[in-house]
Amino acid sequence: MRISGHTKVCSVIGDPVCRTLSPVMHNAAFKEAKLDYVYVGFRVAENELQDAMQGVRSLGIHGINVTMPHKSSVIKYLDGLDPMAERIGAVNTILNEKGKLRGFDTDGIGTMAALEGKGVNLKGRKLLLLGAGGAARAVAFQAAREAGELTILNRSVGKARELARVLGREFGKPINGESLSPDRVNEELENTDVIVNATSIGMYPHSEEIPISSEWLTKNLCIMDLVYDPLETRLIKAAKAAGAKVINGLEVLVAQGAVSFEIWTGVKAPVEVMRAALVKRFKEAEP
Ligand code: NAP
Repeated sequence: MRISGHTKVCSVIGDPVCRTLSPVMHNAAFKEAKLDYVYVGFRVAENELQDAMQGVRSLGIHGINVTMPHKSSVIKYLDGLDPMAERIGAVNTILNEKGKLRGFDTDGIGTMAALEGKGVNLKGRKLLLLGAGGAARAVAFQAAREAGELTILNRSVGKARELARVLGREFGKPINGESLSPDRVNEELENTDVIVNATSIGMYPHSEEIPISSEWLTKNLCIMDLVYDPLETRLIKAAKAAGAKVINGLEVLVAQGAVSFEIWTGVKAPVEVMRAALVKRFKEAEP
């Protein structure tokens, strides 16, 4: 990588960002595609977000990924939104078009691509979605069109109910929003085909947590965990032990990153190189 005055800068902003793996994946992709781009991480506190967005314009930073906790709050500092990001109410990708910042959300498309990539079709099947935060909303808006049935369970039940109401109206099918309680999960599992964990349960430093009791998991389920830190969450381990089909957070990380890459560069993302770079980094980090 030869950095010069012409090199285009892309970045992830969040708080914290010290454990992000996006630079590993995107710098490998830029190198493979022979693009004069570089990707770095910037820690941005909530009260610095407006200044940071002005800094993106002033410095001519080309592309941004947005992670927790800024995915919704950044919207008010942008100049335009992709229609899907507007409906979701969250942005994880920004493109700087000559000083005008346009926001996109690639988490939902990435999740659908990761499911498809593993041969999982939601058509006519029941999806149990855990969470109603930024990532869950992105998944819900993409999945509601496809899934035969959708139930959203969240700790703050009001958010699950509101999301279910909005989606039900838009897609004209019954979508349930309820509390993420053990009883409710147990009840829902009876006829569920696919579970997507889009909560941060099980994420570092709380990697001992699991959103569903492991003894309720069966081989008939497909279980996807968006959490990728650690890669083998307790949910993924329990799902494997039960003989279920599993899709870990790395697949979503790669798929959403590929869409961001294409927004910034207009070039097809080298998906296998991105995945290999991440796998290598996970292996290096193993104890
Ligand atoms: P967010 O907007 O902050 O939402 C967090 C969600 O987790 C909310 O539904 C929240 O419930 C729930 N939650 C948090 N702690 C909980 C607990 N102790 N018990 C029950 N529920 C809890 O975050 P996000 O952006 O949606 O991200 C969620 C997770 O997905 C994170 O781990 C993130 O790293 C991961 N993610 C991965 C990818 C990928 O590429 N693999 C992409 C996006 C996100 P309340 O509403 O009740 O607070």
